[in-house]
Amino acid sequence: MEEMQSNGFDFTLINEFFAELERQGPGSAEETIRALRFVGTLASDAKIADLGCGTGFQTMVLAQNTAASITALDLYAGSIDKLNATAATRGLQDRVKGIVGSMDALPFQKEEFDLIWSEGAIGSIGFAKGLQHWHGFLKKNGYIAVTYESWFTNERPAEIEQWWLDAVPEIATIADNIAILQKTGYVPVAAFTLPESCWLDNYFLPQKARHADFLQTHAGNKAAEDLVAFMRREAELYLQYKQYYGYVFYIGKKI
Ligand code: SAH
Repeated sequence: MEEMQSNGFDFTLINEFFAELERQGPGSAEETIRALRFVGTLASDAKIADLGCGTGFQTMVLAQNTAASITALDLYAGSIDKLNATAATRGLQDRVKGIVGSMDALPFQKEEFDLIWSEGAIGSIGFAKGLQHWHGFLKKNGYIAVTYESWFTNERPAEIEQWWLDAVPEIATIADNIAILQKTGYVPVAAFTLPESCWLDNYFLPQKARHADFLQTHAGNKAAEDLVAFMRREAELYLQYKQYYGYVFYIGKKI
């Protein structure tokens, strides 16, 4: 969804659409847990920041698979309200706290966190810029784990190349992103691609199920119609070109 913001859609309208979905970007509980394994066991006094958390699907996975305390941050207050309500329903409110804030001006102490997590969000502020800014908030030996759109090949058809350059101008290959991870002060620990089901089953399918309802709520609203058309196009392009790009989990360690 981050790619839509750079395409000029209204932030509130996008979030109104997506906050009704279980998650707002491609991913899955299995892949979150897979990334978490590279980080090792966190002590019960460990602290995690989940940046661009949305309604907190992956936040709850982190809470259920670690003993740490989690601060989840997002710019959209509606998503944070949902996240805090879910945490309370699941009895996790003592360890999970959602706050409104911006990923590029974090309201935290220096070296506060053992782990900084971010799924499907860093592109909004820029991969290198985000990694640099967040570095200061990690403890020595702390980990970073982020998913980010990446090219799988050095060359790709012009149509998909242009579409992504409009959406995420910085989009790069996995090798280039690992180099950026290293340059911004982390030891690259792992990088793996998210399986297609993270897009098809967990991202596009739930969107499709909501399109009609959303169009009805916003009948006659051109911006809402354009947004749905954009989402449909994104899904079509994915089916056509999925061998060329996808989300990659990058895990790094600050030393
Ligand atoms: N991590 C969630 C949500 C991904 S969608 C998931 O994977 O399901 C991207 C999220 O980033 C949205 O919730 C959006 O509101 C948030 N976002 C975009 N720009 C932001 C910024 N500058 N600061 C904080 N959050 C931001």
